[in-house]
Amino acid sequence: SLRTVASAWTLGPLHLANRVVMGSMHTGLEVQDDGGAGMAAFYRERAAGGVACIITGGIAVNDEARGGPDFAVFGVGGADERFRVAVDAVHDEGGTILAQLFHAGRYALAAGMVDRHGDPQRVVAPSALPWAAARGVVPTELTSAEVERTIEDFAAAARSARDIGFDGVEIMASEGYLINQFQSPLTNLRDDEWGGDAERRRRFAVEVVRAVRTAVPELAVTIRLSGADLMPGSSTDDEVDALVHDLLPLGLDGISVGIGWHESRTPTVQAAVPHGAWLAYAERIAGVVRASPYPGVRVIASNRMTDLRDGEAVLADGLLDAVALARPFLADPALVNRSLAGRFALVNTCIGCNQACLDRSIVGAPVSCLVNPRAAREVAFPARPTTDPKRVDVVGGGPAGLAAAVDAARRGHDVTVWEASDRLGGQFGLAALVPGKEDYAATVRSARAELAERGATIHLGRPATARDLVDSDAVVLAAGVVPRSIDVPGSDLPHVLSYERALREGVPEGTVAIIGGGGIGVDTAAFLTESPDEAVRAAEFAARWDLDVSEELVGDVPQRLPAAPRTTRPGSQVTVLRRSGKFGQGIGITSRWVAIGRLRDAGVRMLGGVQEYLRIEPGVLWVRDEHGDEVGVPADSVVICAGQERASDAEGDTSDGLATGLQAAGVPYAVVGGARDARSVDAVRATSEALEAVRRL
Ligand code: SF4
Repeated sequence: SLRTVASAWTLGPLHLANRVVMGSMHTGLEVQDDGGAGMAAFYRERAAGGVACIITGGIAVNDEARGGPDFAVFGVGGADERFRVAVDAVHDEGGTILAQLFHAGRYALAAGMVDRHGDPQRVVAPSALPWAAARGVVPTELTSAEVERTIEDFAAAARSARDIGFDGVEIMASEGYLINQFQSPLTNLRDDEWGGDAERRRRFAVEVVRAVRTAVPELAVTIRLSGADLMPGSSTDDEVDALVHDLLPLGLDGISVGIGWHESRTPTVQAAVPHGAWLAYAERIAGVVRASPYPGVRVIASNRMTDLRDGEAVLADGLLDAVALARPFLADPALVNRSLAGRFALVNTCIGCNQACLDRSIVGAPVSCLVNPRAAREVAFPARPTTDPKRVDVVGGGPAGLAAAVDAARRGHDVTVWEASDRLGGQFGLAALVPGKEDYAATVRSARAELAERGATIHLGRPATARDLVDSDAVVLAAGVVPRSIDVPGSDLPHVLSYERALREGVPEGTVAIIGGGGIGVDTAAFLTESPDEAVRAAEFAARWDLDVSEELVGDVPQRLPAAPRTTRPGSQVTVLRRSGKFGQGIGITSRWVAIGRLRDAGVRMLGGVQEYLRIEPGVLWVRDEHGDEVGVPADSVVICAGQERASDAEGDTSDGLATGLQAAGVPYAVVGGARDARSVDAVRATSEALEAVRRL
């Protein structure tokens, strides 16, 4: 049914087999000192998975263009050789690859960095305006001569890309980087030929495109434009459209439409952002292109799309030419082939958590993926089948257990999963009940499909005992966690619930006090106050941020109205209480502010600095507040979100019980994730440990 997605098209000189582009992602593999092996393996697997065109992570056009220490520059430190290896790998698989030409401008995180001469890294921008994350580094305003030199650096980088063998280049002019900075009245305060009015602010983008197009007439040249900056006072829609008009006569082959600056306070890439929210911007730009004398220039839509069935809906009317997805390719390198074969159940869907990708990339840490811990680590964990098939048993069907089971089954081991409850998913099954996190169910759906296809055995409602496992060749203990109870007088009253019960069964109408304001407490508050219907949330999102967002797409997960009747209550009826630390602590840096902002918008009360939970009575929770006063919090229900403890196994032991039995029987085993350490359980750590353990055994 993906007729349009599966149709061939051309992008300048390139003949592409389908309409899916892998968008640029900064992985840090670009500077890994491995001769390009890591990058080659990463891109090879994705090209083999069917994506027609890959855009690299940003490649800085000169030293000062780097966004941080892990950005490559052509011609520096063996970069060209590494890229050559990566390009060859993609071509081997029949794919194409474009180099993204990048200049961070004032977004360079340059504190402590040096350039190739050992001098402190220079940070440059149209005007000397810093941004908050730059830790006090104020950029130097580019002189007119330096602007000209920077344009020439873009052209030189394009020539390098051609010499290395790239099929084309994408000029990064979106997300608030240098070209976008020149365009915006917020960051370009110049009054010379490069600023002063909207036309002169556009000139830098125009001259970069002109120089690059002239430098590499034989390559595909595209630009990544900002459909909207989502910054109050920045370029208007008319100014963006005027830039498109200026660029079209220059011989561009395509325009990829991005959205929002990194410092924008409008959420753009978080799970809470409705699927397909940003399509309206790509459609507007496509309208400008189609009505121009250059209607054949390709327009590529992107952002908050995880499912190619949505891609089909987007492309079917012919206005847009292709869809670019990025994070979904971290989650599933075979996304395109699986989707084109109609095998949607197998697709390992990106859940928009940002935990192993953006949250890491922002601090310069190695990028991977929560639901695919092999991502960007393909060399360390090759996909090839085992030559020594074994019986592998996995105890626990939560995210860690499933990650271990899927990896072992894929490589040809004989896998059995033992899940004590009557359903797979563990904490992900609960998370999927939270509005905006419905995609967490997709991880379970995909693992179940893959395990079924590979002939794995799944025992549900059947806790494993040591006797079950004595004949195993290798055991992964991933029994996960259960909600921790608390010892407060009244905590055994019937109106006191664990978060698990609250999420599964719903909470009766009335006031609710949530004890614990970490990630789960914040999720529970969202569950109580937000609509489970994504279409309703999309309309609210549009109203909240004053946007014209598309509402027609709701992702691949069928709308899950929870089994138990559930009312969405006013936020004023919900109080989240916390002793110390920030509300939402544990949620990643790129998502926490969005999650807390949603609760604030809903009017949820947040009571921090609680000294003591005194007692629970019908209708009220008594606490000692930050001033030492005894106060009553209205609570027809109390939900305990006070962390987790290790789940018990069948014999009432924690995993230690099984471990002792396995040790006695001489069966190799590993304990991973929450079963190993429930206090600081972290899903990225859990799935990563699961992969490492199953490869070691
Ligand atoms: Fe998607 Fe989360 Fe994986 Fe990032 S870490 S690619 S957001 S699933």
